[in-house]
Amino acid sequence: MNHDYFIVLPDRKVRLKDYDPKYTGKFKHKDDAAQKLTEDVESLSALQDVLYAQDQQALLIIFQAMDAAGKDSAIKHVMSGVNPQGCQVVSFKTPSAEELDHDYLWRCMKNTPERGRIGIFNRSYYEEVLVVRVHPEFLRTQKIPPDLTGKKLWQRRFDQINEYERYLTENGMRIIKFFLHVSFDEQRKRFLERIEKPEKNWKFSAADVRERSHWKEYMNAYEEMFQHTSTPWAPWYIIPADRKWFTRIAVADIIVETLRSMNLHYPKPDAEHLAGLEESRRALLDEDKQLPSTTSSSSEKST
Ligand code: ATP
Ligand code: MG
Repeated sequence: MNHDYFIVLPDRKVRLKDYDPKYTGKFKHKDDAAQKLTEDVESLSALQDVLYAQDQQALLIIFQAMDAAGKDSAIKHVMSGVNPQGCQVVSFKTPSAEELDHDYLWRCMKNTPERGRIGIFNRSYYEEVLVVRVHPEFLRTQKIPPDLTGKKLWQRRFDQINEYERYLTENGMRIIKFFLHVSFDEQRKRFLERIEKPEKNWKFSAADVRERSHWKEYMNAYEEMFQHTSTPWAPWYIIPADRKWFTRIAVADIIVETLRSMNLHYPKPDAEHLAGLEESRRALLDEDKQLPSTTSSSSEKST
């Protein structure tokens, strides 16, 4: 898959209108994509095993999107083959009172993945230049001193985020960021489906429908965010999201390629470790000759 179609180049002005949410590349149908997803999920699982064994780097994957764009289902399908011990998913909702008492990166810093792990942020500190920008009244709840909330706030936040991501990268973390780009019409369809299908009712929120009225403002905030925070060390990818099956293969493909570029390898045992392995091997093989049989005692217990 050619990632040039999705990646946002640094400082590039983005117009979301130029990106087709229905794009599916050379794949015409869901069935064409099934094999590709299976292969990528297998590769991801194998690469994650090495990431874990090497225990030096981590991969942070950030998902941002409008409601019903398919963040949850992308995470579920793409990560389906990964050992749960090597992966952590964190969802960032409206900040709690405790979180609001800290700077906005605090809750994310506490949740970055450990070395050897894949960390997924389902929403992130990017909400601070998205929902907070569309609803600046949230700034009041953040209790930021008024002289720090002027017009320059957004540019300052972009800079802070870029520097924070650079800092993480320089400490062994790779960062990739996905925007799942769903169209206004497709979101409407998905909301209606949530109302009409009883098993999807639980997902429906009237607040999400109200938020639709700010669509244009959100798109503007996203466009500014792409332009200022897609960096060589933490790029944004704009992923078409009107066809969920395509979203999954695009996301999986980019994660696999990223892991492949991370120079992962199983740790090589040093001479001392090798000697230890050999010693233990001999001891285990010699057990046959030295230990008394244990079968009699276990059969006694069962009677
Ligand atoms: P889903 O709806 O699929 O369960 P979700 O990610 O939309 O998942 P919700 O609990 O519905 O989860 O929504 C979380 C809400 O919290 C979003 O509307 C988001 O904009 C909001 N939010 C997240 N971070 C912040 C923030 N820093 N300040 C204000 N609102 C935030
Ligand atoms: Mg929601």
